[in-house]
Amino acid sequence: LVNLTKKLIEIRSMLLSIDQSDSLKLPSIVVIGSQSSGKSSVLEAIVGHEFLPKGNNMVTRRPIELTLIHTPPTAGTPTPTEYGEFPSLGLGKITNFSSIQKILTDLNLAVPDTEAVSSEPIDLRIYSPHVPDLTLIDLPGYVQISSMDQPEELREKISSLCDKYIREPNIILAVCAADVDLANSPALRASRKVDPLGLRTIGVVTKMDLVTPDQGVGVLTNNRYPLHLGYVGVVAKSAGKQISSLSARAVSKQVEEDYFNEHKAFFGSPSSSASSSAIMVGTDTLRRRLMEVLESSMASSLHSITNAVQLELEETTYQFKVQYNDRRISSESYVAETVDALKARFREYATQFRKPAVRERLKEMLDERVMDILEQLYWIDKRVEELGALGADAKVKTAEDVDAYWRHKLNAASSLLTKSGVGRDATVLVADGLRALIDSIASGEPFNHHPRAAERLVQFSHIILRDRIGMTADQVENCIKPYKYEVDVDKREWEVGREQAVELFEKEAALCEGKLSEIRKKIGGRRRLSGLMNYVRELEEKEKDRKARRMRGEDVEEDVEGYRYPQAQVLDARHAMLYSDRLAILKLRLAALKSKRCKAGPENDVFCPEIFLNVVADKLAHTSTMFINIELLDHFFYQFPREIDSRLIYDLDRKEIAEFARENPSIRRHLDLQERKDKLEEVMKQLNSLSTLRADAVPTPRRQ
Ligand code: GDP
Repeated sequence: LVNLTKKLIEIRSMLLSIDQSDSLKLPSIVVIGSQSSGKSSVLEAIVGHEFLPKGNNMVTRRPIELTLIHTPPTAGTPTPTEYGEFPSLGLGKITNFSSIQKILTDLNLAVPDTEAVSSEPIDLRIYSPHVPDLTLIDLPGYVQISSMDQPEELREKISSLCDKYIREPNIILAVCAADVDLANSPALRASRKVDPLGLRTIGVVTKMDLVTPDQGVGVLTNNRYPLHLGYVGVVAKSAGKQISSLSARAVSKQVEEDYFNEHKAFFGSPSSSASSSAIMVGTDTLRRRLMEVLESSMASSLHSITNAVQLELEETTYQFKVQYNDRRISSESYVAETVDALKARFREYATQFRKPAVRERLKEMLDERVMDILEQLYWIDKRVEELGALGADAKVKTAEDVDAYWRHKLNAASSLLTKSGVGRDATVLVADGLRALIDSIASGEPFNHHPRAAERLVQFSHIILRDRIGMTADQVENCIKPYKYEVDVDKREWEVGREQAVELFEKEAALCEGKLSEIRKKIGGRRRLSGLMNYVRELEEKEKDRKARRMRGEDVEEDVEGYRYPQAQVLDARHAMLYSDRLAILKLRLAALKSKRCKAGPENDVFCPEIFLNVVADKLAHTSTMFINIELLDHFFYQFPREIDSRLIYDLDRKEIAEFARENPSIRRHLDLQERKDKLEEVMKQLNSLSTLRADAVPTPRRQ
């Protein structure tokens, strides 16, 4: 039968790791008592080691789930080592019990003072040939007198934590000191509330040595609070300072033995006190009693727990079918799928970076630049109308007939364009596009769940880019160098350039029209706007006049008339004037671009700088794209998937892979349900094998 408890204790631990619901709990022994009642001393006497936190400052702040596992000597290991283990901390076997004590102390003190106690249990397992198979839960001691540093609130917190644990089916170990009236024992009081008949409460009376033997007997045979499972008297005073733990155990055991032997007349012989009618004393008796009680309690829970597990398992199996159609996943497969999806996604997005797309983007950038140059060099030039007239004049046969001024302008414009740092700007533009692409991948599903992986993704892609940008920019700049000196344009290129220039100008004109009509609407119609514009012109004239007079040294007074229109409208009018001036020039130039002269061909470049610059921009975009493709894009698209492999996953160990998968909530839910199902199946298997074991153990009546 000893085997049964051991098995059930194992099953209990597994069930605890599945969840904390009460229906899936096998009984454990819960140790309650007021502070200094000797709770720790009793537990340490049972374990035979000093390992619990000591000190005055509320050292037990969390429940300690203490699982004792008896490791019997075998032929191979005649003296099995004693050790403890904190399964959730992953520290491995700890053979030094003062280290266990240190860890427990740290874990308890880590509960902030403001919280004082925490309901989150510490899981500790102790393996030893000297311990019985038992599970015990040590709880913070009841506070009896609230004081400055232990306020009323704390008292209630502790007692509600204890209330949670002393529920069925747990067995209550109520620790009281012999020298304190049992009527004042908070442990007994709490236990009577949930177990009035004392069917699952064992009383432990400590400090038997502090009262006279007959007082002691009086306490143990107490009829005021009868307990079905009885009282056990102990002398469990921990042997004090740092003697080696083995001798500590021996010493304290000896003290107790001596005491009860000395008073045999009162207590009877300790070793024979197991029967329930006799007085029970001694730690060994207590241990035996605990084993018996836990065993029978576990055995009687076997049926109900089997049913409960069966029900849970059916429900979980059903949910797994319904929610996931029985599809099993693993953290590893999730990681692999995520990486595959990432690469596929990347390839798909990469099409945005094929040459025509890149060329188009660079051309757009250069078109804007061309417009700026045209504005600077032509549109604000007063003679720009003259250029149009020259183009239309049939007497002007060739470009050579025109003033050198225009030839000079065209060269300057071309130079501005080719020397505007195209290499760097084009490279950075494309690199920024790649960065934005990676950023969007990193912030989308499923990387939104994996912030650290997303960060790494962004980081290494930026590193690849950073390493290439300088070199690519230089290379591009180098390759467009010839255009800085001379650009040859053929007839076909010219016509394409002309069409594009017309298109650009039409777009720009439409933009100005749009802005103008917006302002018109705001001001309240065409007439009102032109009135306003006339007024603003007048203002400007006057201002100019005043300025001129001031320059001549005349005494000019300020305009006292003030504005006839609100300031905001005056500002709108000024904008409208700018737009309509711009529109006038654009229309003029559009007419030129559509004229015979501009259509004729590249020999007319001086008359149609827009077309010439457009062709140059096109050539620049073309050449830049070619080299950016070789130096930056090819390299990036080759390198990136490899970096994913080497930097995103290959350096993850099993634990990190599991953590990664669990960052994604839907995967976590899937894994949780699957694990729950697996564990329940395993528990069910073990429970079933237990019941067959028990069936075998029942002796069959022999036939005569
Ligand atoms: P806890 O606060 O309930 O865990 O109590 P402890 O186990 O720390 O014991 C409180 C004090 O009582 C300590 O100084 C122990 O040495 C002492 N003590 C515990 N059990 C006995 C006992 O059986 N006899 C005597 N004389 N002292 C004891």
